[in-house]
Amino acid sequence: MTDWRSTPFDPVTEGDKLKEECGVFGVIGVSSAANFTALGLHALQHRGQEAGGIVVHDAEQGFNSVRRFGYVRDTFTQADVMDVLPGPIGIGHVRYSTAGSKGATAIRDVQPFFGEFAMGGAAIAHNGNITNADSLRRELIERGSIFQSSSDSECIIHLMARSLQRNIPERMKDALRRVEGAFSVVAMTRTKLIGVRDPLGVRPLVLGQVGDGWVLASETCALDIIGAEFIREIEPGEMVVISEKDGVTSHRPFEPKRSRFCIFEHVYFSRPDSILGGRSVYSTRENIGRELAREAPVDADLVCPVPDSGTPAAIGYSLASGIPYAMGIIRNQYMGRTFIEPSESIRNMGVRLKLNVNRALIRGKRVILVDDSVVRGTTSRKIKEMILDAGAAEVHFRIASPPTAWPCFYGVDTPQREKLLAATMTEEEMRRHLGVDSLKFISLDGLYRAVGEAKGRDVDAPQYCDACFSGDYPVEPADQVEKGFRLKAAE
Ligand code: SF4
Repeated sequence: MTDWRSTPFDPVTEGDKLKEECGVFGVIGVSSAANFTALGLHALQHRGQEAGGIVVHDAEQGFNSVRRFGYVRDTFTQADVMDVLPGPIGIGHVRYSTAGSKGATAIRDVQPFFGEFAMGGAAIAHNGNITNADSLRRELIERGSIFQSSSDSECIIHLMARSLQRNIPERMKDALRRVEGAFSVVAMTRTKLIGVRDPLGVRPLVLGQVGDGWVLASETCALDIIGAEFIREIEPGEMVVISEKDGVTSHRPFEPKRSRFCIFEHVYFSRPDSILGGRSVYSTRENIGRELAREAPVDADLVCPVPDSGTPAAIGYSLASGIPYAMGIIRNQYMGRTFIEPSESIRNMGVRLKLNVNRALIRGKRVILVDDSVVRGTTSRKIKEMILDAGAAEVHFRIASPPTAWPCFYGVDTPQREKLLAATMTEEEMRRHLGVDSLKFISLDGLYRAVGEAKGRDVDAPQYCDACFSGDYPVEPADQVEKGFRLKAAE
């Protein structure tokens, strides 16, 4: 069985990519909720590979749960797990930790979390990050709460326990009104499936229908895998309560706010076959490539993606520029992340373990490499070296996002600010550091145009969260500020 606790090292990116924290899934009104949930989590595996969990409820057996480290496909097997999870209602979660312990992760941090209340049990699964979790936790502990995990998400269960409301959905509303930051939450009681998005709608959550049953999921690709029909997105600030008896009811527990969906979901996190905001993620990424070609043209022979996430943008760049698209870098699909220990010798091999240059294609060519982002720059440097070793005449980097100069506090694992290349260097300094002939990032306005905002970013009222590029945090990261993080206005 895969054991991620000893192997947090990814030889491809070496921590040089932003990592999505979690994916959530829930289903009600089907014969085997656990099977559907496992399939849904499998489709959401790109959002978190460290661990996963499923909670179900059955009229005879009550609540049952399984939480495991590793890939869903390896750890949620039929005989071992699924047969002990009967019932028509269930929720699940895949995790890549940001808040909570990392590396030697404890199973106690793996969601869904469960609470037993006077009116019955409830389980919750959370995607996002609570930006006032430290102060909430302190307050709750002072008032007698006993935490089981180090996860920020557990605060929600304890806040629900303190509420005086008479049913679980009302207790959830009370709890979530105290919470700041980003949250897409899927929860369940014995008879209800509940979905909530924070007032800004930072992280995604969609509603689907399968037969007579209903589904909630982080992305539409998790609906497709079980043959569910996409109904709509849960709106920012909306709570849906779903039961077999009453169907879907919509609630508005928060003060209305202007939506600030994470623009990086379009660039990188979501799967290209998902639909976000009514738009195909693949098409948006192709648009980003087209916009990049218009903003940053260069005379070259080939456009090559850094696989796999740079592929749609590279296709867009090629279509807009007329420069041929080619697979100059080939990914070894079968090189898992798990069997190699992070020793120094392996680190030195770096990206060669998983990416190889198509030498016959590259030799003597002026190559445009399209990647989704530059975080620390370590991977970009190694890829450039591989391309030059293969005999490329020139290497030009084109990046499908603006410079990542600020950390994310809304559920994405980002290095500290000083580790971000763009936080300490100008574009020209980065170009020299990477050792490439040219380096260009799409502008923030260009990215907004590519996601459908014809006039670009509205400086007075930005339409998305873009804090990791702009430093404009739509929710003040209170815990981080308390720990000394300096907001842009304070610089
Ligand atoms: S800071 Fe960046 S990654 Fe985080 S939610 Fe905002 S846009 Fe997304």
